[in-house]
Amino acid sequence: MSKQTLSFQAEVKQILHLVTHSLYSNKEIFLRELISNASDACDKLRFEALNNSALFEDAPNLEVRVSFDAEAKTITIRDNGIGLSADEAVANLGTIAKSGTREFMAALEGEQKKDAQLIGQFGVGFYSGFIVAERITVESRRAGLKPEEGVRWSSEGAGDFEVETITRAERGTSVTLHLRAEESEFLSAWKLKSVIGKYSDHISLPILMQKEEWDAEAGKQVTKDEWAPVNKAAALWTRSKGDITAEQYTEFYKQISYDTEAPLAYTHNRVEGRSEYTQLLYIPAKAPFDLWNRDKRGGVKLYVKRVFIMDDAEALMPVYLRFVKGVIDSADLPLNVSRELLQESRDVKAIREGSTKRVLSMLEALADNEDAAEKAKYAAFWKDFGAVLKEGVGEDHANHERLCKLLRFASTHAEEGVSLTDYVGRMKEGQEAIYVITADSLAAAKSSPQLEIFRKKGIEVLLLVDRVDEWLLSHLYEFDGHNLQSVVKGAVDLGKLQDEAEKKQAEEAATTFKPVLDRLKETLKDRAKDVRVTTRLVDSPACLVVEEGDMSGHLARMLKQAGQSAPKSQPTLEVNADHALVKRLETSEHFDELAHILFDQALLAEGGQLEDPAAYVRRVNALLVA
Ligand code: ADP
Ligand code: MG
Repeated sequence: MSKQTLSFQAEVKQILHLVTHSLYSNKEIFLRELISNASDACDKLRFEALNNSALFEDAPNLEVRVSFDAEAKTITIRDNGIGLSADEAVANLGTIAKSGTREFMAALEGEQKKDAQLIGQFGVGFYSGFIVAERITVESRRAGLKPEEGVRWSSEGAGDFEVETITRAERGTSVTLHLRAEESEFLSAWKLKSVIGKYSDHISLPILMQKEEWDAEAGKQVTKDEWAPVNKAAALWTRSKGDITAEQYTEFYKQISYDTEAPLAYTHNRVEGRSEYTQLLYIPAKAPFDLWNRDKRGGVKLYVKRVFIMDDAEALMPVYLRFVKGVIDSADLPLNVSRELLQESRDVKAIREGSTKRVLSMLEALADNEDAAEKAKYAAFWKDFGAVLKEGVGEDHANHERLCKLLRFASTHAEEGVSLTDYVGRMKEGQEAIYVITADSLAAAKSSPQLEIFRKKGIEVLLLVDRVDEWLLSHLYEFDGHNLQSVVKGAVDLGKLQDEAEKKQAEEAATTFKPVLDRLKETLKDRAKDVRVTTRLVDSPACLVVEEGDMSGHLARMLKQAGQSAPKSQPTLEVNADHALVKRLETSEHFDELAHILFDQALLAEGGQLEDPAAYVRRVNALLVA
């Protein structure tokens, strides 16, 4: 291929524009990104060579070399990894295959600090070279191709790039950055070493730099042709816990997760037994932008005996723990394990179970911590990830009990952070059920008429306002021997919480009120399944309830919003026989009007929508002037 000039994909142009104009802080991460690419390239070679050892040619020792030329103002990062063919150079360095570009740009266009660290998160790390370089030249030859099939790729990071075929004896890739004049601080062995030490110490390949020597005659440091490693070259998780600092754990986390913040918690263990493996797992402090994508693969990388096998190995973690990041290094799995094989492997099953338990222990350690700061961490975790963890209650039967204990809710007693254990501890003498209400919002839940009797008696009710809560309830009927009972379902049954006098009063009201109830039933026969007197209301005249087993109005509305059809079941209207408005019914000449108004108001009070709002307005107005 003779020299060609090609245009970058539109998204790349946008990214490049942002990279060269917007990133001011943490510029030095370009080195981390390029070394990380070099390390990935070596991992890929090792992996492909499992089936074709000829790819190692005569250079089986994989390594990265970093050098600089102060006169030419260049830095070169060279690896002997898989390399790029000419086609791959065009495709991989000229287009972005991954999603998330838009999110990246949005993140940078916002008011946030223009932090270069953001870049790796979106799979566009290569372009970070243009933060400091006015031109980048890449020379490469893919493992297995002939020396004449090398490629040179070069660009100034604006609209286009050049590619041409070259002859290159060495396998792998050299990335040369031609630094902008104002970035010469990087033209120093000391500076480069310190950046590598900060960001890339855990890379499991040797990163080599040339030794330097003081030349008295020239009066300056000169580089020798002798290369020495500048990193520990031992994968972090293979080192013993005692040798790893908290900063190193954090930096490793940032590297694999592309998060800019430190993790909330981590756990590092060597597991021995039926299955032997090392796990280093992190819980992020903040939810990533794609948390809600259940199809997204997990954040755990799989290694086998230190050889990188795959990213995002979803079989290693249950879906509801998809936010966990980290590494699992197995001693038992075959090196040529495929995704399909992973799904069936008994070793993987053991790893998944073991890792799930570890993550839950980490969460429990935060949640049950006496230390207020640790507890606050759990509250923060819950805010971002609680709804995802709830999925586990329905999906992970083995850990059902533990997951239930980790749940947190709002209640009539506390704005947030109420656990089921807290609730049970506060239950009233004689209380059997755990009372809950589901609603569209906290405000709607709090002002729900169904809560009135509970408030009056000081009985706590959990307020469930997350979209997944209805679903959660269908998998959570019981905790610690107590049934969960929705206060909007079935007749109110406070059991022993109601005294004899109250029960008697209610029965009497039902009898004396019977003629009115019968008329109400007749009038509302197209809208209400039944009409009955209730003791659950104190200040409100009426409310709607559904029968046990029927779908709550809240769930039906959610389904409707989601474009799904909800089975039509009529609610039951419950009236408060002590309420003035209800009493007035007996003698009112506007009985039918009032009946409909009662029903409509009950529907509005629970956040429902009137089918015929105009009719409601007409009725109310007619009564106002009557
Ligand atoms: P990511 O590393 O997340 O894939 P980058 O922008 O860092 O994104 O790199 C883009 C692509 O360029 C890589 O996926 C890889 O295909 C290719 N690439 C970059 N550096 C190298 C290298 N040193 N050796 C081989 N391929 C590379
Ligand atoms: Mg990269």
